[in-house]
Amino acid sequence: MAITRYRGRFAPSPTGPLHFGSLVAAMGSYLDARHQQGEWLLRIEDLDPPREIAGASDHILRTLEQFGMTWDGPVSYQSQRSQHYDAALNQLWQQGVLYHCGCSRQEIADSAVQTEAGPVYPGTCRNGLPPGRSPRSVRVHTEAIAISVPDRLQAPLQQQLASEIGDFVVRRADKLFSYQLAVVVDDAAQQVTDVVRGADLLDSTPRQMYLQQLLGLPTPSYLHLPVAVNSARAKLSKQTLAQAVTVDDRHTAVIDVLRFLQQPLPESPQDASRDELWQWAIDHWDVTAIPNSRTLPAPMEYLQPT
Ligand code: GLU
Repeated sequence: MAITRYRGRFAPSPTGPLHFGSLVAAMGSYLDARHQQGEWLLRIEDLDPPREIAGASDHILRTLEQFGMTWDGPVSYQSQRSQHYDAALNQLWQQGVLYHCGCSRQEIADSAVQTEAGPVYPGTCRNGLPPGRSPRSVRVHTEAIAISVPDRLQAPLQQQLASEIGDFVVRRADKLFSYQLAVVVDDAAQQVTDVVRGADLLDSTPRQMYLQQLLGLPTPSYLHLPVAVNSARAKLSKQTLAQAVTVDDRHTAVIDVLRFLQQPLPESPQDASRDELWQWAIDHWDVTAIPNSRTLPAPMEYLQPT
């Protein structure tokens, strides 16, 4: 019987330097992979040029290296994989599950039911573009069935795509491929067996599982880690002025992430060498010790801008 080897990945979007929140996702996916003697791939999700910051990809790679997290194989860049996303779109067109939508964001916001995940697409263009409208985005038909996400940590999420999300975009009005499509195509192409990422992406997972089913691709195992939030319970990001993790404080940052994920620590973690600390963290990685909440407060010192 073929034994599938664990293959994990870290898939940052190059929208800025790594901050505490992205370090949690990087370390969580890295430790989970290495604890299981698995591979850890790196994929730069540079699919959305308007949101990118020049130099951010290289900065992220350098930071990971300086932290001591080494990845396997070449780095993959979504910007170089358009033909694979196109092929997946063609397959979905042939299956008859896609349609052109002529609605603007504003029109949808004005007429849609709002849920936590945003506006539910009201289905305006589902049965053909209304007269006089030109195609903008491409959407996939959703079905009135519940999808449940088994997660290694979080309570199982049940989502009814049709009523909670609605038909969703796979190709945007600006012609860019959607994150949902690209991530599904790439995780399958890279034969990722285990996705470890922030719980802010839990709500996206049913959309990804639905696309996997339509495209006949396997569903990986999921582990959604608590997301670091500030005192207003907002996710750390450039907008919430999260501080970039700098190189001088990386030993402390590793310890702080381990504490954040409530992982066991050696007796004097500050005195351990970099390699000793990593080896300890890999050996003692314990998913059952991580709080199964979607958010956790970030340590104060990562919140203030420098
Ligand atoms: N690129 C996404 C982000 O930086 C993560 C995608 C994923 O892990 O599926 O938020």
